[in-house]
Formats: sequence, C-alpha cells, structure tokens
Amino acid sequence: MKRSLLIKPTMNEQYPTVSYGKGIYLYDNKGKRYIDGSSGAVTASLGHGVYEIIKSMQNQANKVSFVYRSQFTSEPAERLAEKLNKLVDADEDYWSFFVNSGSEATETAMKVAIQYWQEQGNFKKQRILSRWVSYHGITLGALSMSGHINRRERFVSLLEDYPSVTAPYCYRCSFDKTYPTCQLMCAHEVEAAIKRIGADHIAGFIAEPIIGAAGGVIVPPDGYYQKVREICDRYNILFIADEVMTGIGRTGKMFGLDHWGVKADIVALGKGMSAGFTPMAATLVSEKVMKPILEGSNSIMSGHTYSANPQSAASALAVLEYIENNNLVDKVKENGTYLLKRLKEELSNLEIIGDIRGKGLMIGVEFVSDKNIKQSFHNNGAVTNKIVKKAREKGLLIYPSSAGQDGVGGDAIIISPPFIILKEEIEELVSILMEVVSDIQKELGLTGGTDHEAINVQKEDK
Ligand code: PMP
Repeated sequence: MKRSLLIKPTMNEQYPTVSYGKGIYLYDNKGKRYIDGSSGAVTASLGHGVYEIIKSMQNQANKVSFVYRSQFTSEPAERLAEKLNKLVDADEDYWSFFVNSGSEATETAMKVAIQYWQEQGNFKKQRILSRWVSYHGITLGALSMSGHINRRERFVSLLEDYPSVTAPYCYRCSFDKTYPTCQLMCAHEVEAAIKRIGADHIAGFIAEPIIGAAGGVIVPPDGYYQKVREICDRYNILFIADEVMTGIGRTGKMFGLDHWGVKADIVALGKGMSAGFTPMAATLVSEKVMKPILEGSNSIMSGHTYSANPQSAASALAVLEYIENNNLVDKVKENGTYLLKRLKEELSNLEIIGDIRGKGLMIGVEFVSDKNIKQSFHNNGAVTNKIVKKAREKGLLIYPSSAGQDGVGGDAIIISPPFIILKEEIEELVSILMEVVSDIQKELGLTGGTDHEAINVQKEDK
C-alpha cells in the first residue's frame, strides 16, 4: 500500500479521517463519533453542518465567489464591516480590514500601529510590546510579538526583537503574590518596561484578553486591563486586543475585553468569526487610528489575494446573524458556567489537577505532577498530548495548550465546545474527560484524589 504523503501535526501519529460533522459531533470515515470539545480550538463555535450558514454560502456562491479587492468591494463585505462596527463599540467607529487567518489579522494590526505613528511623522515608534505566555500567530511578524518560546526558538534570528512583559497568570504569579494584595504588579510591569525601552520606541501593546493556546486559558484579574489601558494612554501607546480566540461570543460576551469594559484601538479577529465555515479574519481599526492614515497615505500597507473575499464575508455575516437570532452569547454564558462547575465538581480532587479556570465556553484545565507545589511535568507537553490522544480514542476532541512546552507555565488543555452544546452533552464530555484523566493519572503512578471508578460507585449508590 502506498503511504500517505500528507504532512500532519505529528508525523508518527495516526489521525482519523473526518467524514462529516453534525451539531457538536464529528464522524470519521469508519463511522466513529467524536464530541468536538475544542471546536478546532474555539473555531467551530456554532457546531457543524449549520443549515443557515451553508444556505447563505450557497446563495453567495451562486452570485459570485471571488472579486479582487483592488477592483471591487462586495455587498457581504460591506455589510459585515458595518455589523462589526456596531458590535465592537457604540461610541466610536471601527473600520474593518479583512484577511484570512488570525496571524494575518495580528500582523496587520502590528503594521497599522506602526503606520499610525509614521503618518504623523514619527518613524521611531516601531516596536510592539507583548507578554510572555502568549500566542499571536505563526507568521514571522506575529511570532515576533508572541511570547511563545517553543514556537519561536527555531526562527529567533529572523524575528524582530520585540520586548515582552510578565503575563497576568495568577495561578503561577511571577511575583509570588496573591490577588488583590499583589496590587496588580503584572500591570505595573507594563509601565516599567515602557520606561526601560522608552515610549518613543513603542508603537503598541498587544494582548489576548484571555490567554489561549500558550497558557491554557488564563483569565487576568479584575482591574488589570483598566490599569494597562490607562498606562498605554499615558505613554501614547496603542492598545491592540488579539481577540482571535476570545472574540465573537466565545467567553460569554461578544468580545473578551467587554468583561472589563475596556476598548482597544485595534482589534484582531479570526477563528470564530466565520465559525470554521470559511477562512476569515479581520483587523478592526478605530477612527482615532484611521484618521491620520486617511489623511496621509489613505491606505493600509497590507493586503492579500483573498482579503475581503465575498464568499468568506457571506459566511461570517451569516454567523453573526445566527448568533444574534439565537441569543447564543447568553447561551455561552449559561453553558460555560455549567461546564466549569461540572468540571470542578468532578475533576478538582484528582491529584493531577492543578487548576480549572475560564470564562464562558473557553475553559482550561492545568495538570501538575505535584499539586502542593504546583509542579508541572516539564516533559515537553508529553502528558498533555497523552491526554488529548486518549480522549480522541474515547471520542472526545480537546485542544493541547502548549503551556508545558513554554517553560513558563504548566501543562494544560483547552475545552471549548460549540455554543449550542446541551446539558446532557456537557455531562457526556465531562464523563469522558474524567475517565481519561483518571486513567492517565493512574498510568503516571499519581495517587490521591477521587478516581472515576470511585465516582461511578458513588453515583450508583445514590
Ligand atoms: N492569535 C491567537 C490568540 C490565536 O489563538 C491564534 C491561533 N491559535 C492566532 C492568533 C493565529 O491564528 P491563525 O492560526 O488563524 O493564524
């Protein structure tokens, strides 16, 4: 038999071949069913095979699928920009620049921030301040802004030497403090870094409102973003929100920053924007930032062949309408609260569980080899990968966070099922995860906590 020549994330691993998806489930070509418990790392937020989205894509395909951005705009792209503008801020206009991936969206944000200062005659403000334990994308510009050691190490010589500050990671506080007595030292570090580097060299500060892939869902403490926003304003530095994971309802608000009532100057969107139906991402630029650009070169120095593609715009527009028509952001809040509670109830006592955290349907579970001292495994994500693989074998897809490979954080997974998940499906998800984590814990020789057999006995006894 000929071998497969498809390059996969890990070449020696067998991956199932997907056949189709319906609702929260994916089916492989052997008929096995999987709960899409990570919906492609927060992407397929509406689940699979959603009639309304497919219909709108078909309608658009029947009209026109492609126009080139420097010759034409399209009705779905115009309407999408208008809708995003209304959603992101009631008081200020935000312009949309459409791209095809989260990496392009953050990299465009970086370029726009630099261009903003150049249009005003300031050519020194070229650097972007970011945080450790962060991921803003895989292209070289996006990677330059990412505090993700593992993804960066092979390409360091090609990356810009952008500075990074401590992440607001309360479970593993770099200052060994506890909130709120810490007085938000991590936010104050942003100011210290600006002073050290010089505000006249920094164009913008970028942050994921809730840290995703690099940290396994890290929710900053209240007050952090208010403080950081105030520091950015004080030092004339643009605030860029990377909402590629947190945007479009995933955390129980339309945008992640909405939890703290803070607005960004530039917002990067991706993933859930088109809920996995088409490649679609966007950089939203506030009127404040657009003004000197419109008065200056009158164009953003970026663009791709598929930018603002009508087919992708139609699907993203249909996604936003579907979310609104079905009150899905409220549903995320309700389902997320329930899922977090059930995960804590079932898993917290296990010896291997360090922390369970999140907002809405973006939940992280961090694993430890010693609970008392929060010791992570330091084995290059091997434990997390084992858990993800075993879960897949048992019909549950979850997302390995690379925190464990970063040397900074621990080993974690992200659980982010589609918004439409039902309570009984949440129960099924939690039960499979419990079984997998207990088995791996046993395999690793960790004792203590409750294992799933004990819990099943308790349930039957009732
Ligand atoms: N920013 C964040 C916060 C992300 O989570 C990701 C993807 N994991 C990206 C940017 C890059 O997006 P993409 O993979 O679509 O390029």
